[in-house]
Amino acid sequence: MAVFFDTHAHLDYPDYAPDLPEVIARTQAAGITKIISIGTSFDSSERAIRLAEKFPQIFAAVGWHPTEAMAAPEDLRPALREMAKHPKVVAIGETGLDYHRLPSEKPECTTDDDARYKKKQADIFRQQMEVAAEFNLNCIIHQRTAWDDTVAQMLPFVGKTRGVFHCFGETVARMKQVFEIGSLVSFTGIVTFKNAQNVRDCVAAAPLDKFMLETDCPYLAPVPHRGKRCEPAYVKEISETVAQVKNCSLEELSTATCATAKEFFFKMK
Ligand SMILES: [Zn+2]
Repeated sequence: MAVFFDTHAHLDYPDYAPDLPEVIARTQAAGITKIISIGTSFDSSERAIRLAEKFPQIFAAVGWHPTEAMAAPEDLRPALREMAKHPKVVAIGETGLDYHRLPSEKPECTTDDDARYKKKQADIFRQQMEVAAEFNLNCIIHQRTAWDDTVAQMLPFVGKTRGVFHCFGETVARMKQVFEIGSLVSFTGIVTFKNAQNVRDCVAAAPLDKFMLETDCPYLAPVPHRGKRCEPAYVKEISETVAQVKNCSLEELSTATCATAKEFFFKMK
């Protein structure tokens, strides 16, 4: 059986509290041999580390999600450095910029609140890339409706840390921009959705050694599980669609994506 990794899962979320051991058992049956559980705050990152300590196939990324920026401390770096030392912490994130829902959508907020929100996102994004560079780790990048600012913030870090633009759903031209700065992309179950031709176009255009697979579970379950709780075992369905689009065998896709992930998340053994 061709094996794959789930490079982006949120196994610390309460969605899995009732049955995590069964969820993990299903990943083994599906050939998903490694999973990275991604932190979205310090608490979530700590929980990801605890899961990595408990399950040999789970690894952790530690970071603070941009949409949670206003709850973040002024300086994330000291606590992040402590967590980054852990042998099973393989990346920093998720981090990045997200302008999709700005505070001024609410009647009690103004564009000043938007400016504060964007500034805080930028501050914690920069801090996380700094810690990543110090520890020679790479970053999990969350980007939504903030393309130019995200790429601009990453430019000073080129050569110091790289990013994986997770859940990639932009254009082929933007994907090429990602590759030009030495970063990668990863694809979720969206690739199986009927209306996601732009994602399949990106898959078709991406060299085999420039992307990874992920679920972003509990979100974005691929067809035929669409709309239900997603889980890492569903990388199997994602890999089948991606192999079809690339017109390659599952074995080729397995070899390429696992090698890319092992190189990018080099502490993942
Ligand atoms: Zn995520």
